[in-house]
Amino acid sequence: MLAQRLARRLDIVRQRCWQDVTGNNGSIRQLQITHNPSQNYDICIVGGGIVGLGTARALNIKYPDVKIVVLEKEDELATHQTGHNSGVIHMGIYYTPGSLKARLCGEGARRTYEYCDEKAIPYKRCGKLIVATNEEEVSRLDALYQIGLKNEVPGLALVDRQQILEIEPYCTGGLMAIHSPNTGIVDWKRVACSYGDDFMAGGGTILTGREVDTIKDVGKEIRVNCKDKSRITAKNVITCAGLYSDRVAANAGGKSSPTIVPFRGEYLELRPEKRYLVRGNIYPVPNPKFPFLGVHYTPRMDGSIWLGPNAVLAGSREGYSRSSINKRDIAEMATFSGLWKLAVPNLSYGLNEMAKSAILPLQLADLQKFIPEVKYADLVRGSSGVRAQAMSVDGTLVDDFEFDTSCPGMLHVRNAPSPAATSSLAIADLVVARAVESFKL
Ligand SMILES: Cc1cc2nc3c(=O)[nH]c(=O)nc-3n(C[C@H](O)[C@H](O)[C@H](O)COP(=O)(O)OP(=O)(O)OC[C@H]3O[C@@H](n4cnc5c(N)ncnc54)[C@H](O)[C@@H]3O)c2cc1C
Repeated sequence: MLAQRLARRLDIVRQRCWQDVTGNNGSIRQLQITHNPSQNYDICIVGGGIVGLGTARALNIKYPDVKIVVLEKEDELATHQTGHNSGVIHMGIYYTPGSLKARLCGEGARRTYEYCDEKAIPYKRCGKLIVATNEEEVSRLDALYQIGLKNEVPGLALVDRQQILEIEPYCTGGLMAIHSPNTGIVDWKRVACSYGDDFMAGGGTILTGREVDTIKDVGKEIRVNCKDKSRITAKNVITCAGLYSDRVAANAGGKSSPTIVPFRGEYLELRPEKRYLVRGNIYPVPNPKFPFLGVHYTPRMDGSIWLGPNAVLAGSREGYSRSSINKRDIAEMATFSGLWKLAVPNLSYGLNEMAKSAILPLQLADLQKFIPEVKYADLVRGSSGVRAQAMSVDGTLVDDFEFDTSCPGMLHVRNAPSPAATSSLAIADLVVARAVESFKL
């Protein structure tokens, strides 16, 4: 009886592993995990987004004999931020010189292009314009250009009205722009799954459908307990949990701050017959008060043109629609003093964003500043994504990438907002360097 139950259990584990290997959009090849995976590992990585998978790949390349497992709560990899974004390969124009974002974005972009060439992952180096449409924006544009130069963004140039029209013939609203010819587009989910491929080809294990609940250091090992009652033990743990990075870190005994506040970004799409209006990325001059880049025109790898994303507070950490509400998430936000400190002085901005989200003609006015020829009838509602925005208790939005090594044997990625997809190969190397230091690998 006991033997039968054990055999059935082993069979379930085998089936799960088979799904793990085949269930990733067809990208992950049918590799080695056709046997029962061990429950004991050297390193356990929580989160199968682009940061977790990039880190797993980099660790596996550096330490091929170290046993590593990635635990992902969904049945597929890269379904949250990595699978719901603008798909832009950023070049690092905006970020404070010397910050991690500035350094890792430039390096990440260069390495992304090399990686995609090596793996034959399609991308388009379609370029980008950051367009000033009034005199006040023109003055801010120059300051932004100086930042881009300090960040050594290749090929960056200031262009006038005539040059804007040569690059984007329908962008007649622009007075002056920054042109970044090397900005590109790619499918980040595909890139992330390719990192997963590399990792598994190197002997790594990925288990999907494993939502991590608690992580306990019991001295001789760390116990990673999953919601389905399964347990993995490891010597070290790295958490890369995106929208849940604060909760997962806190469940592992880490600090509860910074707190993740979810901001939904909704996209519109141009009707296919109007796609000719846009060639490359067209961005506004960003509002310096917020870390979001503003509603932009972005071509996609499938030929469609997305317009967005806006930034509205989401009713749930994975709230991809306006009706998606999670009681726990709402209660946490309502009692988080940091959010109130941000919301009160920025109430009119927040309400304006909400109004634009609900009433398309209001958003249309913003888009027409660049391309007046875009009309209401040319727009359809599209996809959306939710940003994991880390916030401090004083209401400050944490701008830079943040890592936390305060728990022995554990490393937490606390803030990996845009451009973390672009920066993923460079972030992975940084996490590995920190792991080498704190785990004594
Ligand atoms: C609207 C939007 C537009 C963006 N545009 C761009 C862009 O154009 N270019 C760019 O470079 N970046 C962009 N970004 C940012 C980029 O997408 C993210 O920074 C990046 O994907 C973060 O990757 P991640 O692995 O940290 O997070 P995620 O992709 O969210 O992965 C985290 C993973 O952890 C898993 N997880 C969470 N909790 C648990 C648990 N308890 N147990 C197990 N697994 C768990 C989740 O299911 C998820 O798969 C954009 C983001 C958004 C939202």
